[in-house]
Amino acid sequence: MIFQTHDVIIIGAGLAGLRAAIECSKFVDVGIVSKVYPVRSHTVSATGAIHISPAPGEDPEEYMRETIKGGDYLNDQDAVEIMAQEGFTELIHLEDIGVVFHRDLDGTIIRSSPGGMTTRTATIVSSGWAQELVCTLQEQLLKRRTTFYNEFFITSILIKDGVCRGITAIDIKSGEFYGFRAKSVIIATGGWGRVYAITSNSHICTGDGTAIAFRAGAPLKDMEFVQFHPTVLYGSGILISETARVIGGRLLNSNGEQFMKKYAPRFKEIAPRDVVSQAMQREIDEGRGIEGSYIGLDLRQMRKRFRRQKIPFFKQRFDAFADLAETYALIDIDQEIIPVIPGEHFTMGGIKTDVWGETPIKGLYAAGECACISVQGANREGANALTECLIFGRRAGIRATEFARKIDFLEFPRDQAESEEQKLVNLRNAKGHYDVNAIRQELQHTMWKNVGLFRNKEGLETALKKIIELKSKFKEIDIGDDSKIFNTALIYALELKNLIDLSECIVLGALNRKEHRGAHYREDFPQRDDKNWLKHSIFNYNGENSPILSFEDVVITRFPPKAREY
Ligand SMILES: Cc1cc2nc3c(=O)[nH]c(=O)nc-3n(C[C@H](O)[C@H](O)[C@H](O)COP(=O)(O)OP(=O)(O)OC[C@H]3O[C@@H](n4cnc5c(N)ncnc54)[C@H](O)[C@@H]3O)c2cc1C
Repeated sequence: MIFQTHDVIIIGAGLAGLRAAIECSKFVDVGIVSKVYPVRSHTVSATGAIHISPAPGEDPEEYMRETIKGGDYLNDQDAVEIMAQEGFTELIHLEDIGVVFHRDLDGTIIRSSPGGMTTRTATIVSSGWAQELVCTLQEQLLKRRTTFYNEFFITSILIKDGVCRGITAIDIKSGEFYGFRAKSVIIATGGWGRVYAITSNSHICTGDGTAIAFRAGAPLKDMEFVQFHPTVLYGSGILISETARVIGGRLLNSNGEQFMKKYAPRFKEIAPRDVVSQAMQREIDEGRGIEGSYIGLDLRQMRKRFRRQKIPFFKQRFDAFADLAETYALIDIDQEIIPVIPGEHFTMGGIKTDVWGETPIKGLYAAGECACISVQGANREGANALTECLIFGRRAGIRATEFARKIDFLEFPRDQAESEEQKLVNLRNAKGHYDVNAIRQELQHTMWKNVGLFRNKEGLETALKKIIELKSKFKEIDIGDDSKIFNTALIYALELKNLIDLSECIVLGALNRKEHRGAHYREDFPQRDDKNWLKHSIFNYNGENSPILSFEDVVITRFPPKAREY
């Protein structure tokens, strides 16, 4: 085992991890461990739309109200309030370090409203891709006390006597095993879209940090809430962002009807994602899908609107859609409709933390999509994920630094690390009967079929049975490659274990929650039920058995639940 020490270890180099690192590296020595190079984190594929609310003199009330209504009242309102208060300072910080935002001719930053909202609080980075954020933050970190461990895969979080003391990881390139000692650890490993067969997420989005923290004793929260984005390309899952509908794109069924008029008369195509996705799936299920399978996104009349615009904002987005559709679906968007379906996009649940990113385990923090601070509730509004990464990444960074400065290094639990190393050696040499890829596909298809947009008792029970079967098959997998250097077969197996454990939580939570709230739609309980279900689901690891489920109240401050109409 190779041994390394840092005051703070951050797992993940997406937006949340890098933002946390900026805070930590002001005062302490930081190590960032990431399974890919930072610029390959999923954040880079985001279009870079960020809610920044409010500007001085503006009232944050409406932004908060719409975020909470969008989240179907499951959001913890104290956390949403923080997001509404700290956005502007964050914008100034980003500008100071060199991020450029789209501006109007008079120099003001352009702000628009994404789906489900009327407040114009969403800004967009000038390149039109959040890669700009990742690159800028990474550049800043290169001049600070930060060491990057790129292409390192973490395998466990080490906790002794209730305090987090470090992590173990393998260097994917060499296969060497590492023990990292730290005073505090921040998890920022992103979401787990790859639980599903159809997703807009990168292949690396396998929820590793969330699953590993869970097995180490950190509780998870609201795992049944998974967002399906209305418009991913039929066939590939590549995202066509909400802006396509914000600029006027219409959704058409096989009869050429703009069906959203029926489901959301006021907002139509730009209703929140849960509303639009469920409406699209309903059209497909009731036989009005084009070729029985997809919905048409119509941008055919749009180009002339942007031709003469002096500001590149919308034109740039339009050109990006044209590019994506041509490259990945061979579609000319001026002549043809784009074939789209709803696909998995975002995980609202995650590691339970408070508004400072603290988990119930001392010295262990989490931020970004892997965490559940509960700002997104039962359905995330567009452009609020990057905001969450920035604001709560910073907060987790502050607290983890304070903690690290207060204590001395504790003893490193070498015995735990050594037993983890032995487990990995055994796994690398595993020669069972089951193929990792086959199990992964079975899992993804089971989840898509039974735990997707519409759920019911029968489907969820089928899924749970299958997951328990796959869990036991996993014990007899065949890795098929016992070499050390770039052993991707081993990495896929480690990811599969994480996907299985998180899937079990999603299904268990969905089976238990007997209502329709936001993205969680139980066909057998199609109404929201505030009397019984205005509460968070909490999941605790229970070894080989199913997770233990309990509940917690939602924090409601100023916005009592109301009927949700769009
Ligand atoms: C196509 C797409 C477009 C989007 N557009 C927007 C948008 O415009 N606006 C918005 O607000 N949101 C958007 N989102 C959502 C948003 O981008 C994500 O929620 C957010 O970027 C997640 O950032 P993160 O830092 O939490 O994780 P990620 O960016 O996913 O980074 C995770 C990091 O963890 C590391 N990691 C993971 N597992 C391990 C392991 N085992 N060992 C070591 N390291 C590990 C990875 O290497 C990576 O560096 C979009 C999402 C997608 C998929």
